[in-house]
Amino acid sequence: MNIIFMGPPGAGKGTQAQTIVDEFQIPHISTGDAFRLAIKEGTPLGVEAQKYMDQGLLVPDEITIGIVRDRLQLADCQKGFLLDGFPRTISQAEALDGIVESMGKQITHVINLNVDRGLLLARLTGRRVCKSCGATYHVMFNPPAAENVCDKCSGPLIQRSDDTEEKVGTRLDEYTNKTAPLLNYYEAKGTLRQVNGEQDIDVVGKQICSILRGQA
Ligand code: ADP
Ligand code: ADP
Ligand code: ZN
Repeated sequence: MNIIFMGPPGAGKGTQAQTIVDEFQIPHISTGDAFRLAIKEGTPLGVEAQKYMDQGLLVPDEITIGIVRDRLQLADCQKGFLLDGFPRTISQAEALDGIVESMGKQITHVINLNVDRGLLLARLTGRRVCKSCGATYHVMFNPPAAENVCDKCSGPLIQRSDDTEEKVGTRLDEYTNKTAPLLNYYEAKGTLRQVNGEQDIDVVGKQICSILRGQA
């Protein structure tokens, strides 16, 4: 299974990815996570990416495509992969087609999580992530058992610097202008499946699993 998760920021891609990679034992490839790691490590890639991420803008295609190309070459992707947050532009999607073709594979599923813009704002401003393991929570919709402590590893929960109301507005505009047009791209290929991302986390997860198992 070679899967793409699409949907605006806050749609639940990362949350659902955790379930799917456990269930199907395939690597989770998140370009956002890759950039945040590079920033934490202070690499040249991190320094460059941060300029854009801090403003809520997409990182340029040349940089982003290179990361995914390198990651997909690693042996663990032979058994399948889940791309979360890539592609986000038409050029990225076209580049991905070339990369996947050169691997002798194809994208098998594109799952789009639909969530209304008003709800996305509430989801993103209330999002908290574990500083140690990256697990995702929400102060109201998916709180940890103990406030600001990760259920999985007891690490501290923090708010991402781009999850402020001001930056969320720019990020949602970037989505509408540059990423939403990709839905037509995958619709035309016949690989796109829509899932209502406003349902409970468990319900969304079950629907995605059914699609991936060919039962829906
Ligand atoms: P994305 O990766 O698409 O940006 P996340 O998975 O990080 O989105 O989810 C954004 C926020 O919304 C997080 O705080 C998460 O806990 C919460 N969330 C995710 N899915 C749901 C859902 N189905 N119902 C309510 N809250 C959700
Ligand atoms: P979210 O799903 O909540 O928007 P991500 O972690 O996927 O968060 O992305 C965070 C930021 O990383 C984006 O706002 C953007 O700056 C950068 N980024 C991630 N993926 C891409 C991509 N495919 N193309 C360009 N920039 C990206
Ligand atoms: Zn944790």
